[in-house]
Parts: sequence; C-alpha cells; structure tokens
Amino acid sequence: MKTLENKTIVITGASSGIGEAMARVYAAQGARVVLGARNAERLAQLTAEIHAAGGQAAWCAVDVTVPEQCKALIDMAVTTFGGIDVLICNAGISMRALFDKVDLSVLHRLMDVNFWGTVNCCKYALPYVQASHGSIVGISSVAGLHGLPGRTGYSASKYAMTGFLETLRIENLKKGLHVMVACPGFTASNVRFAALTADGSQQGETPRDEAKMMTPEQVARIVARGIRRRKRLCLMEIEGRATHFVKKFAPAFLDRMFYWVMSKEPDSPLK
Ligand code: NDP
Repeated sequence: MKTLENKTIVITGASSGIGEAMARVYAAQGARVVLGARNAERLAQLTAEIHAAGGQAAWCAVDVTVPEQCKALIDMAVTTFGGIDVLICNAGISMRALFDKVDLSVLHRLMDVNFWGTVNCCKYALPYVQASHGSIVGISSVAGLHGLPGRTGYSASKYAMTGFLETLRIENLKKGLHVMVACPGFTASNVRFAALTADGSQQGETPRDEAKMMTPEQVARIVARGIRRRKRLCLMEIEGRATHFVKKFAPAFLDRMFYWVMSKEPDSPLK
C-alpha cells in the first residue's frame, strides 16, 4: 500500500487521543475514515470537522465490548464506502493499582475493552479486509512488550491482543492479509485520566508530565508508515525500541528498569 488515499479505514476509539489524531491525519491524507467510540456527540463533531476540511468520514456509536455493536460499525462502513481496507483496533483503557489490591472486576473490564473489543471488531471486519488484501492493526503498547508494574490487567490485555493478532496473521498467510501490532510508549491523551484504580473508579488525573510525551499525531504518522510498509511490529520512540531489544538479552535488567521507572511516579503503588 503506497498511500492511504481512497482507502477505507475503520478506527475504534476515535473520539479522543490517538484514535482522534489518526482520524484527522488519515482523512487529511485522503483516506475515508469510519469512526467508532461510545461518545456519539464527540464523533459527530469530529466527522463534521473532517467534512468541513474536505475529507470523507462517517461515524457510528459503538461499545466495543458488545459484539452486535461492532457488527453495526463494520456494516455501516461497508454500506457507506463499499468495503474496508484497514481496521485499526485502538479503543482502550488503562489501570493503575497493584494486583494485591485491585478488584478483579478491573482486570475483567480491561480484558473486555482491550482484548475482546479487538476480537469483536476483527470478527466482523475480517472478510472485508481479506477481500481488499488490507491491514488489521492492533494498538498495543510498550506494556504489551514487557510487563508494566501497576498495570497487570493492561499488560495482560495487550499481550492477549498480540497473541490473537499474530495467530490471525499466520492463519491468513496465504490470503494477503497484513496484520500489524503497534506499540506506542507514553503518549499525551486522556488514557491516564480515564484509567481505573483499585476499586474500579477512574483515576481522574495523570501521574506523569503529559507535555514530555509523544503527541497522538506523531503516533498516527508512525502507524500510517507501518501500514504502508506492511510491518508486523511497529515500534516508536526509544522506549519501545529499547524494550524490544533489551528484553531479548537482559530481561531481568528490564524488570528492574521498569520497576524503577514506575516507582518514580508520584503516588506510585510500588512505594
Ligand atoms: P484515550 O483515553 O484518549 O482514548 C481512548 C479511546 O478509546 C476513546 O476514544 C474512548 O472513547 C475509546 N473507548 C474506551 N472504551 C471504549 C469502549 N468500551 N468502546 C468503544 N470505545 C472505547 O487514550 P489513547 O488515545 O491514549 O488510547 C488509545 C489506545 O492507545 C489504547 O488502546 C491505549 O491502550 C493505547 N496506548 C496509549 C498510550 C498512551 O500513553 N496514551 C501508550 C500506549 C498505548 P469513548 O470513551 O467515547 O468510548
């Protein structure tokens, strides 16, 4: 795929952060974007802004944990634009609590949104993406490359996504399907504000300096390049590349690094 122009791209979690940036950036590159998330008002507004800028977009309110709603999103994309070239499973939530303290419902919720949300969308989009010899992309995380302390449910859900997507790639080896796992590091967005704490309530604040992170637009551009080059794994800044490399040779050292980095956060549960 040389360019995203005239490609139909379904993006979940498009109402905020990385998903919203992908919608704006890809529409500006000439793609037809189909936006899914729960916040209908935000999606309608974003769609109107893309139309006003001369782009093509459609939206559908979807809770990715509900299979029927994922089917409705995919059906709407096909009815509106005639097929699907790229599905980006981006909708996701995070958490912050030690496993000792966390309510099990938090881990179930993380798996429901991050893992099952990906599976649900892939289930209904797969025949269309197979037909276009297109791409399925999972937005995982550096936490999907190595366990991130205080984020058991988050890391587990991202590892599960990777296992699922890798298997999907192999099953479709002879069908021209491209499957990519993208692993952003810390990116300025709403994800830490919405992250679940031990009792399942939202954190409501960020423990990190969001101004020092990658921007969602940077992530969107790197993911677009990965799609065009049909990469398997899309690593981004130094965090991702270093994690991927060091894990192969010195995983115990990486454990200590991850512990040290996360224990430096204000109010870190590791203290
Ligand atoms: P945001 O919180 O800004 O965006 C998350 C998006 O997911 C929103 O659009 C939200 O929309 C949607 N979403 C959440 N739950 C559901 C649901 N049940 N059904 C449908 N949509 C849902 O965070 P980011 O942009 O940062 O996160 C996007 C992805 O990037 C996530 O998968 C995250 O794990 C990953 N990531 C983020 C990093 C970061 O530091 N920001 C680092 C590495 C990976 P709505 O509430 O309207 O449903």
